[in-house]
Amino acid sequence: MPETKEAPAPAANFIRNIIDEDNAIGKWGGRVETRFPPEPNGYLHYGHAKSIFLNFGLARDYGGVCHLRFDDTNPEKEEQEYVDSIIESVRWLGFDWGRHLYYASDYFDTMYACAEYLITSGNAYVDSLTAEEMRAYRGTLNEPGKDSPYRTRSVEENLDLFRRMKAGEFADGAHVLRAKIDMASPNINLRDPAIYRIKHATHHNTGDTWCIYPMYTYAHPIEDAIEGITHSICTLEFEDQRPFYDWLLNKLADGGFFTRPLPQQIEFARLNLTYVVLSKRKLIQLVEEKHVDGWDDPRLPTLMGARRRGFTPEGFKRFTDQIGVSKADSWIDMSVLEACMRDDLNEHAPRRIAVLDPVKLIIDNYPENQTEDCFAPNHPQHPELGKRAIPFSRELWIEREYFTESPPKGYFRLFPGNRVRLRYGYVVECTGCDKDAAGNITAVHCTYLPDTKSGTPGADSVKVKGNIHWVSAPHACQAEVRLYDRLFAMPHPGRDRDYIEDINPDSKTIITAQLEPSLKHAVAEERFQFERHGYFVADLKDSKPGAPIFNRTVTLKDSWQNNGPHNV
Ligand code: ATP
Ligand code: MG
Repeated sequence: MPETKEAPAPAANFIRNIIDEDNAIGKWGGRVETRFPPEPNGYLHYGHAKSIFLNFGLARDYGGVCHLRFDDTNPEKEEQEYVDSIIESVRWLGFDWGRHLYYASDYFDTMYACAEYLITSGNAYVDSLTAEEMRAYRGTLNEPGKDSPYRTRSVEENLDLFRRMKAGEFADGAHVLRAKIDMASPNINLRDPAIYRIKHATHHNTGDTWCIYPMYTYAHPIEDAIEGITHSICTLEFEDQRPFYDWLLNKLADGGFFTRPLPQQIEFARLNLTYVVLSKRKLIQLVEEKHVDGWDDPRLPTLMGARRRGFTPEGFKRFTDQIGVSKADSWIDMSVLEACMRDDLNEHAPRRIAVLDPVKLIIDNYPENQTEDCFAPNHPQHPELGKRAIPFSRELWIEREYFTESPPKGYFRLFPGNRVRLRYGYVVECTGCDKDAAGNITAVHCTYLPDTKSGTPGADSVKVKGNIHWVSAPHACQAEVRLYDRLFAMPHPGRDRDYIEDINPDSKTIITAQLEPSLKHAVAEERFQFERHGYFVADLKDSKPGAPIFNRTVTLKDSWQNNGPHNV
């Protein structure tokens, strides 16, 4: 294991406690082998990040390995595009599975052999009830189920039917293979669960080799056992499946397929996050109905979207460390995730100046055609990152909101007669403004005080309360900036109506901004703090050096808690 002297010890949680106890009694000889098992039927979302950091993080901290396993047992919804994007996203978060990349579909032969063994050992049978009848026979939470009339078929008949199912003799739904456990079990999942069904469908990996496919709850424990997983970590909804997980692996261990100890299933609470939806089905709908611009739309809570949004892997790490792992379902507010991104970006993003809603400021007593340099620190907390020159000239861009003709009480910015400092530059005194025929302000005028340049002796001789940022107009880089905000306006989309109606109509605003000239050469994915505005990233797809396009990642402060359309 690498030396991790400075890093704080990972916070204890109930899963680490289980592993520590296993290690203490030597259950696995110190081995820790986990897996992250996405089904390739969609793109990974923020919720998956929790599972990825948990599984890969445990493996890393205990000197073990974490497998990336595609749980591709359902032929109908799975695609190579999803496989590729999942690989890209897990890598982006900073994890590496070495040679441990697996596909559940590679185990179809073993799964089939296990099923034949269950039949021959009297632990599985072919049922020929219709789906509807099967539901009726299953019973309810309060009533036991009833045995199917086919439950007593002989081993020979079961084996014959199962082989003919595999050979493609029957239509979808004609028969299913079921585990033979107990139709009266108080746990419905043990009432003879289906383990194989007929499905004449082409699989993204195995093509048309198979027309029967294992059920997820049957396939997953076998996948874990084949790979020698020690701790099989999944979300809470699988808790009721654990008895079947254990039943199945014990039967198969008895049959010599696997050796003990067997993988242990451990459940934790999934991530529930406000202002987003974290269900693949809903994400697919948002993309297909074009409520967003594709799978990597920066507003979508996919990891591909997060990347384009400018979120960082380190920010996700902060987030998952902060929310921890528990057994109790709860909601995390989106502001927590945003704050983690802000904290990471604050530390790492260089500062730059951008004017997002530009109006001209003309310094009437500054010589035309003159240019000089002002110097701005690249990072206030990291003086070692130095300063950069920003050109100053007679005509600047400033934010429209920095000028008013009739200032409210406490307004320290530009209004006729008032003085402000141009950040990193001179003190100026406002003299008035120009307007067009409709009364819109087209330019603001001022004069400058030559002895007040920041960083020169006497710069502070004139005291002012306001300090505004600016960009020299002839030098500015004009660029498209996409102001992204939360995709949903409501903390729990869909709680009171169709979740689509809860989409925030202002989640994307495209503006033309004036940027300091150094931003012109930003490369894709370069991240900055635009002073006073927030964190921005050069768009991964559309931004090019020389013609940058920026996405807003997050504002500097949380605007939703107090001023947002709705509170949680
Ligand atoms: P969805 O419910 O969105 O369809 P899923 O659970 O079917 O997602 P999988 O591909 O099966 O998606 O997920 C891979 C792994 O990620 C699983 O181990 C699952 O438990 C975990 N996971 C999925 N969603 C979350 C979440 N919101 N929080 C934590 N872990 C999650
Ligand atoms: Mg799942």
